[in-house]
Amino acid sequence: MAGRCKWCGGEAEVFLPYARLRLCRMHFRDYVVRRVRQTIERYRMISEGERVLVALSGGKDSLVLLHIFSMLNSGEVPGASLDCEVEAVTLDLGIRGYSAKSIDVARSHCKKLGVRHHVVRIAEVAGFTIDDVASRGGRPACSVCGTVKRYVLNKVGVELGFDRLATGHNLDDEAAVLLSNYVSANVELLSRQSPVLPGRERMISRIKPLFEVSESETAMYAYFEGLKPVEEECPYAVAPSTHRFKRVLDMLENEAPATKISMIRGFLKKIKPLLEEANKALLKSCNVCGYPSSSDMCSFCRLRRIYGAM
Ligand code: SF4
Ligand code: ZN
Ligand code: ZN
Repeated sequence: MAGRCKWCGGEAEVFLPYARLRLCRMHFRDYVVRRVRQTIERYRMISEGERVLVALSGGKDSLVLLHIFSMLNSGEVPGASLDCEVEAVTLDLGIRGYSAKSIDVARSHCKKLGVRHHVVRIAEVAGFTIDDVASRGGRPACSVCGTVKRYVLNKVGVELGFDRLATGHNLDDEAAVLLSNYVSANVELLSRQSPVLPGRERMISRIKPLFEVSESETAMYAYFEGLKPVEEECPYAVAPSTHRFKRVLDMLENEAPATKISMIRGFLKKIKPLLEEANKALLKSCNVCGYPSSSDMCSFCRLRRIYGAM
C-alpha cells in the first residue's frame, strides 16, 4: 500500500476510508485497541476491577477480543488501559471433528496470553450434544445451538460470579442484525439490541466491546498479530440469513464510508429509547430452572424436555 503512517511516518499497511487514515501495522493495532477502550467507556461496559468472562469460540473475532483485553490490561498502548480481571470460557458443543479443534485453539490462545480458561461440556448441563440434535432431524442444529450457547454461557457466568460476559460481535454483525430486524419490523428484538445489556438476578450483564470495530478490521488485526482461528468449519453451518443484509450494507459503506457506524449510533441514541418505552415487557423466571425467561418455561428447558434426559 502506498503512503505513510499518519502517526510515525513509516510505511502504511492499512487505509481506513471512514477516517481517511493510513497506518502502519503497529499503529493500526494501537488504533483498534484505543477504539475498543473508548467503546467500553462510551457505553459504560466495564467498571474498574470488575470480573469479565470472555466467550471464546476459537473463531477470529473472539480471539481478537481476548487479545485486546490483554493489551488493555497490560497498559502497553498509551491512553488505553483498563484494570479488570479477565478469564475465558469455551463451550464443548459435542460436534465431532469441530469442537475438539476449537477447544485446542482457544486453549493455546489463553496459554499464550496467560489467561485462565474454562471449558464447559454442554452435555453435562443440557443432557445432549449438538450432534445428538442433528442426528434427530427436525429443528435446525444452529437454532438449538444458539439457544443452548446463550443459556449455558449465562449460567457459567452467574455461577462463577463474573460481572460481565463479553462476546466478539462486531460492527458488521450488529448492523446486519439491526437492518434485518427493521425489515421484519421486530420491535421486541429491536428494543433489546444493545452493546450492553444490564444484569439482573441470575442474568449476567452482556457486553460487546467490538461493537464499533468492523469485520475487516478484526480480520486485519488477527492477521497482523498472527492469531490463528480454528480452520475447520462447523459441519452444521449454513449461511446466516443476515448475509444478504451484510452485502447491502457493504455496498452502502463503499459508496459512503461510515454508513454502518452512523446507522448503529443513530439507532441507539434516537430510536431505541422510544422503543424501550413502548415495549416494557417484564421478564419472568422459568418455573423449571429459575433462570430468566419471557414465559413460564424457558426455551432451554423446552429443548431439554425434547432432546435430553430430564
Ligand atoms: Fe452451533 Fe450452528 Fe455455529 Fe455450528 S454453525 S457452532 S451448530 S451455531
Ligand atoms: Zn506507524
Ligand atoms: Zn428453564
